Parts: sequence; structure tokens; C-alpha cells
Amino acid sequence: MDDTTQKAEGGSPAALVALTGVNKHFGDLHVLKDIDLSVRRGEVVVVIGPSGSGKSTLCRAINRLETIDSGTIELDGHQLPEEGKALARLRADVGMVFQSFNLFAHKTILENVTLGPIKVKGMKSAEAKELAMSLLERVGIESQAGKMPAQLSGGQQQRVAIARALAMQPKVMLFDEPTSALDPEMINEVLDVMVGLAKDGMTMIVVTHEMGFARKAADRVVFMADGQIVEEAEPEEFFTNPRSERAQEFLSKIL
Ligand code: ADP
Ligand code: MG
Repeated sequence: MDDTTQKAEGGSPAALVALTGVNKHFGDLHVLKDIDLSVRRGEVVVVIGPSGSGKSTLCRAINRLETIDSGTIELDGHQLPEEGKALARLRADVGMVFQSFNLFAHKTILENVTLGPIKVKGMKSAEAKELAMSLLERVGIESQAGKMPAQLSGGQQQRVAIARALAMQPKVMLFDEPTSALDPEMINEVLDVMVGLAKDGMTMIVVTHEMGFARKAADRVVFMADGQIVEEAEPEEFFTNPRSERAQEFLSKIL
């Protein structure tokens, strides 16, 4: 039995997210090459690698924002459907936070967070509001609930984006370089929220070059280059003793 079929106690699959033999091309460009990756419930995986190595495509494929050419992607034991209601339901289980916060500019902070639960999950407005306020409190933004996104700093907006994703009560959170568009002084307030989430047991896949976050929160670092997973290791091991030449070269540039 491999990881993807093994059942944990209670009958749920051991891997919450399981990619097997995933390939993706953009025209002639082979961007994901036979990717096998499985993420356990509660695990925090940091994905790092040079620009263009396929990290964003990987995240987008997990959320079906991008189709794949071959292979399978399973979420909690179910293959992601191509389309329709089943896809919408499964997608709700995957929270995604991007580099650009993508908040709805003409809605208040509170509305940004309540919209998904009301529209997609059919939650009652009062209940959605209560949930949203508790999440805004969790990310330290509750006092800004009535403001518009443009009135907030980048770091605050990204924390709202995290609260908005959490409002869908996802099983896994994907972060694609969530701090790389932020001014340096705002990076830590976002990373702190992410570390808190990790400590609370959220399953997370995080594309980031923030070594401090990886060291503090990651169970495993996955190093990608050229569309392939080149190396996987615990953070300390990876940063102090990278095995592959590509990882050594990459780390020498960013550390
Ligand atoms: P990373 O996030 O690691 O920087 P990406 O997943 O964004 O890498 O991109 C991987 C490769 O795929 C890059 O060469 C990029 O130019 C290419 N690529 C990404 N999206 C598209 C697209 N929609 N069409 C064509 N090429 C793309
Ligand atoms: Mg990217």
C-alpha cells in the first residue's frame, strides 16, 4: 500500500492532499514533471525553489485553477472533479492566499469575509458575521471590520485575505508567496498569523522563501527546480545540509 491508499485510524485517508504522477505543459513547456507529493493531515509543507520552477502552477493545480495533463490529485481521498458543483464543493475545502491579496475593493472588510460563506455555503448572514468577526479577531483586524480594503495596509489586507479563506472552513490552506508583495516591516505580522495557524493544526502548503517561517512552522521543505521535486527534507536538515547541487546553489543565493 502506498501513502495515497493507506487509511489512518477512523477510516480517513492518511494523506489529505495526494498528487501522483502529475504532469502539466504550457505548450511545449513541461512545467510539472511527474510530481508525487503527499501531505498528511496537520502537516505544514514549505515549497521553495527558483522562479519559474512551477511552484505557483502546482498550487493552482491543487485547486483546479489549472488543469493537469496526466496524473491524479486527491483531496481527502477524493479525486478532484473537472467541473460542476462537485468541484465547487471540493474547492471550498482548499483555501488559497496569493501574493496579491485580491480583496473585493468595493466591499468592507467584514463583507469580504462573509461573502463566501453566504454565497457558496448558504450560511445565514448573522452566522456568517459572527464567524467573520471571530476570524478577523484571530488575525488581529477586528477593529477594522467596517473599513474598505484600500484603507488598510498591505499586511492588514493580507491578514484579511487569510481570514476570508479560513471563513470557508477549508481542510487545507495553500499560500503562494503570501509576503513577497509586502513592505518588509509588514512581513512578520502575516507570518505570525500563519505560524499560529500551523500551531493550531491546519494542514498547509506554503510557497515562500521565508526561512524563518520554514524553520518555525514547517514539518518538511520541498525543493522544486525545473518542474521537478528535487529534494525533500526537514527544514533544519535542508537549510544546513542540502543534498542536491541545485538546492545548494539556490540556497547560496538567498541565504
Ligand atoms: P514559479 O511559481 O515557481 O515561479 P510558475 O508555476 O509560475 O513558477 O511557472 C512555471 C513556468 O510556467 C514558468 O516558465 C512560467 O513562465 C510558465 N507559465 C506559468 N503560467 C503560464 C501560462 N498560463 N501560460 C504559459 N506559461 C506559463
Ligand atoms: Mg510563483
